[in-house]
Amino acid sequence: MKPSTDTDFNDALMARARQVIPGGVNSPVRAFRAVGGTPRFVQRAHGAYFWDANDQRYIDYIGSWGPMILGHGHPAVLEAVQQAATEGLSFGAPTEREIELAEEILSLVPSMEMLRLVSSGTEAGMTAIRLARGATGRSKILKFEGCYHGHADALLVKAGSGLATFGNPTSAGVPPEVVQHTLVLEYNNVAQLEEAFALHGPEIAGLIIEPIAGNMNFVRATVEFTRRCRELCTQHGALLIYDEVMTGCRVALGSAQSVYARLIPGFEPDITVMGKVIGGGMPLAAFGGKRVVMEQLAPLGPVYQAGTLSGNPVATACGLATLREIKRPGFFESLAAKTRRLVDGLSAAAREAGVPFAADCEGGMFGFFLLPELPQNYQQVMKSDSARFNLLFHGLLSRGVYIAPALYEAGFVSAAHSDADLDFTIAAFRETLATLG
Ligand SMILES: *Cc1c(COP(=O)(O)O)cnc(C)c1O
Repeated sequence: MKPSTDTDFNDALMARARQVIPGGVNSPVRAFRAVGGTPRFVQRAHGAYFWDANDQRYIDYIGSWGPMILGHGHPAVLEAVQQAATEGLSFGAPTEREIELAEEILSLVPSMEMLRLVSSGTEAGMTAIRLARGATGRSKILKFEGCYHGHADALLVKAGSGLATFGNPTSAGVPPEVVQHTLVLEYNNVAQLEEAFALHGPEIAGLIIEPIAGNMNFVRATVEFTRRCRELCTQHGALLIYDEVMTGCRVALGSAQSVYARLIPGFEPDITVMGKVIGGGMPLAAFGGKRVVMEQLAPLGPVYQAGTLSGNPVATACGLATLREIKRPGFFESLAAKTRRLVDGLSAAAREAGVPFAADCEGGMFGFFLLPELPQNYQQVMKSDSARFNLLFHGLLSRGVYIAPALYEAGFVSAAHSDADLDFTIAAFRETLATLG
């Protein structure tokens, strides 16, 4: 494959985009700010690949940041979407397909007894928080540094100066008053979690967490930490909210909570937030939980939530077709084996090159760090060698391999990645390491 350069058509499109779209992109991480260089403008995609404006092909390890678990252009998905489009793009009235998709998701994630469909993970996370507050009559929310739950105001917050003080906004435009009820804790820190509940227990409406964090690369919650989150929420009458927008139907058919349920008997969150894979690449997300909690939502209860495009007929068709494929016997075993092959190959190449490297994966999601061992929290993630990561990123990109353009992002393998694609990637990684010396 000929090496690509940051040439012509991508540069030209970026220059044009910057005139009309802030930073040239509609979501910041696409801008390559962390790694430098020009973003690739995607022309088309098929299977495990996409092609940029220069017609350069890349093996895709972001998969739209998770949704494209079948790869691009899966025939069954395309057929369902095309058929649905001919029947109507949006009605603003209920459809049978919304029931079918809800039934399908509930059967895969049985901790939810009811759910509501929305259009983005942000919307789902934001409403889950409102629901937890409405259902408990309390105000305070616990979250963890390095976890992302969408860009609702109350969740754009970083740790304050101590456990008695609440967080500080991480974005301009979020008044301090809006985040004054959000407490930010360190991921996997059991002692701090216990202290927070001891200090604020009766006021805590809910604890929101990514069970396997995918927005600080890939960091698992330890079993002990997961167990204590559940126990402390139960003990203090707070709701445990699992944000599985990224991990849902991605790390396992039953999502990350099924992975932990195998390790902690009886383990279940109270509310689950889903997105990405369940929409198969269309704007669709959901949140759900126990019936008594979900019945607090309008029109049954006092917690308001609504959406013009919620349960959109084309998006639900896309999600249903995607879930039908990933439910096939052996799908996740095969996907997990592919991801494992990649991670093992990258680890072996790094070992040979004598580069500090630690990697982990679950189902179709993986992460690697330029660190001697796997990090447990955001601070440790950020010790990864970002200068070397950026060289690695561009080395891979120039060899036709597209990984996330920031070291704090996870990676995704799809069912369309062949062993040859994975081995090509490992070889490109080995070559790149050799050039870094
Ligand atoms: C992507 C993501 C979100 C936000 O979803 P959007 O659809 O981008 O709004 C929320 N939580 C997690 C864990 C995510 O990975």
